[in-house]
Parts: sequence; structure tokens; C-alpha cells
Amino acid sequence: MSDSTANLSDILARIGAARKKAVKPAPSTTLIAVTKTHDVGAIRPVLDAGHRVFGENRVQEAMGKWTALRKVYADIELHLIGPLQSNKTREAVETFDAIHSLDRPKLAHALKAELAKTAKPLTLFIQVNTGEEPQKAGVMPQDILTFVRLCRDELGLPVRGLMCIPPNGENPAPHFALLQKLAQENGLPLLSMGMSGDFESAIKFGATHVRIGSAIFGERSVQGS
Ligand SMILES: *Cc1c(COP(=O)(O)O)cnc(C)c1O
Repeated sequence: MSDSTANLSDILARIGAARKKAVKPAPSTTLIAVTKTHDVGAIRPVLDAGHRVFGENRVQEAMGKWTALRKVYADIELHLIGPLQSNKTREAVETFDAIHSLDRPKLAHALKAELAKTAKPLTLFIQVNTGEEPQKAGVMPQDILTFVRLCRDELGLPVRGLMCIPPNGENPAPHFALLQKLAQENGLPLLSMGMSGDFESAIKFGATHVRIGSAIFGERSVQGS
């Protein structure tokens, strides 16, 4: 077994244990294995171990790696977890099964126009800036209700959940709790929260999707926040 497949089984076991310990876990918690900066050779062992759900944070990088892999492994589910420019929506809709970074009206309108041209199913998460950090993407918590109404109710977009990235160096628990509360208030069933360092806490607050990179593939040497 390569390190990454040993890490994968360890993470899956920890997800199971955290769900067992949680008072009210989500009905299911999906592991999104985050492969940004890692090449096809690094990803293959995890595919061969049977894992099928992956995350990337850049459209271009994902297209390069996953178009070929999808031909070999048909049932891959690919999630975009990084920012999306509205002029990249066509590529994004073609490449991904889910997008976690819907965060502004311009992007919502671009996605609507793109989805009108295709029958491809897509799952959307709205990114929430739970820490209200000026440099960070995401809708401010107080604006979520209005934005959900625009995206889901007016534009008819397939918005199913919320996503957050808590501020660096802070206790993430209050951010996970806030995301859970906002999702409940808006009738959204999915919660994308929790990374390598804090996924067990996120599961306690009902995470349906955890996004884990370095704990499976090792530390990244370059880019990709
Ligand atoms: C890179 C990334 C992750 C994974 O982070 P790790 O700490 O390596 O698990 C999760 N979510 C987003 C949005 C990311 O960009």
C-alpha cells in the first residue's frame, strides 16, 4: 500500500468514529479527497483503492488531470472547491459534478445561462464567509437569506448546501455551528465543512461533505491555499 492509500483508510476510519461519537451526525458524510497540486500518478493509487469522490480548486488544473482519468474510471464525482470566475462557468459545468464556491449574483446568472444549455446534473453550494474576513470569498452571513432566494427561488439554480472555510488559527467550531444554523434556516440539506485539521469537529456539527487533502496526499509543496 502506498502512503496515500494507508492515509485514506485511516481518514475513512476517523470519519466513521467521529460520526459514531456525534450526537446528531448528518445522514451521511462524504469524503472529498482534495487532489490540487497532485498529479495523476499520485491520484491513481487512491482511485485503485476504490475512492471516487475528489476535489480540485482550479478549473484549468482539473481539466488537465481529470478528463483523462474519467475515461478510465467512469464513476468519478468531481467537486470544485476553489473560486470560480464567471467567464469559466462553461468549463466548470463540463468538468465538475458539484461547485462549492457560488458567492455572487454575477456568477449565479452565468451559471443559470450555462445550465440552460445542458442537461448535466450539478449540485451547488453557496460559500459563506463565516469569519467576515475582508480578503476571503463568500457571502456574508447576514446576506445569505437574500442570496439563497435569488439563486434557488428566482433563478431556479440547484442550490443544495452551504460551504465555509473558517479563519486560520481560530477555533473552527463556532463557524461550523453558524453554517449549520444558516443551512437549517434556509432549508438546505448539505454542509461542506471540515478539512485535514478540523474535520472531526465539522462532523459533530453535521458535515455532509468533508474536504481533505494533506492528510491523504501529504503536505503540498506549492501554491493552492
Ligand atoms: C486545499 C483545500 C482543502 C483541503 O485542505 P487540507 O488542509 O489539505 O485538507 C479544503 N478546502 C478547500 C477550499 C481547499 O482549498
